[in-house]
Amino acid sequence: MQKSFKDQKATLYLVSTPIGHLKDITIRAIETLQTVDAVFAEDTRTSMVLFQRHDIKKPLFSYHEHNKLAREQHILDMLADNKHVALISDAGTPGISDPGYEIAQAVIAAGYHVVAIPGPSAILAALVSAGLIMQPFTFVGFLPKKQQEAKRIVETYVKRKETLVIFESPMRIPKTLTLLHQVLGNRRMALARELTKTFETIIRTDLVSSLDMTHATKGEYVIVIEGDLTKETFEDESVEERVNHHIQQGATEKDALKLVAKERGMSKSDIYKIYKIDRNNT
Ligand code: SAM
Repeated sequence: MQKSFKDQKATLYLVSTPIGHLKDITIRAIETLQTVDAVFAEDTRTSMVLFQRHDIKKPLFSYHEHNKLAREQHILDMLADNKHVALISDAGTPGISDPGYEIAQAVIAAGYHVVAIPGPSAILAALVSAGLIMQPFTFVGFLPKKQQEAKRIVETYVKRKETLVIFESPMRIPKTLTLLHQVLGNRRMALARELTKTFETIIRTDLVSSLDMTHATKGEYVIVIEGDLTKETFEDESVEERVNHHIQQGATEKDALKLVAKERGMSKSDIYKIYKIDRNNT
């Protein structure tokens, strides 16, 4: 158990930084970067811009895909020396489609604290501006570059109800939209482009219309897609299975029984009787 503010322990801070607009940084993020003993950054040149803007004068080391193992030891050595360390990525929240989770795991395993300094995240900025249902949602991350692998992953979401949030590089946007349409059919969706930047654009459309975007695309994009909102049919499911389904989604047993009664147009007492019989038979 980590009591972040009660126990005094050497700490790795995962600090969120702007995804475009340089003013999108919290006071706590700036203070943390000004007070730690060292900052590890995905791209030290990008981070220097932030450092200069906010008067941060701390030793800056690179931490990226290609040196993360060597840097892990460096960070652990600093923590062993009772130093505090911050990790930042190029943009947004470290660890989210960015380097960070391995070092967080290693630091936790070594018994030190890992503390998040929350802030910008392209996932949440895109989700809340898309105009689609905001929860539940699933963050898919980047789809694999190989079409067959990407297709296999998208297929697992065909029947899922939640909104999907997908990262994609600009060059691959047309190909990915075509794949999403082939597998998911037509659905409402949004393309959130250049969030928080001068050319921020939110295109609220559907997958069929998005296919017209075959021209070369520029800028950073997040794809947000509506879940499968077609009405469920319950003929194949017993009352008990349906109640269990709602319980798994977070409902209490009482609420689950109410929901099943509503779905089937029956009284709660009749549903309860069937539920008891189903349960006794299993
Ligand atoms: N760690 C970052 C975060 O928390 O937002 C995400 C980093 S990931 C390597 C980069 C991807 O995030 C981009 O390809 C794009 O899909 C999305 N992204 C980052 N900044 C964005 C922005 N300003 N507008 C739209 N998408 C953005």
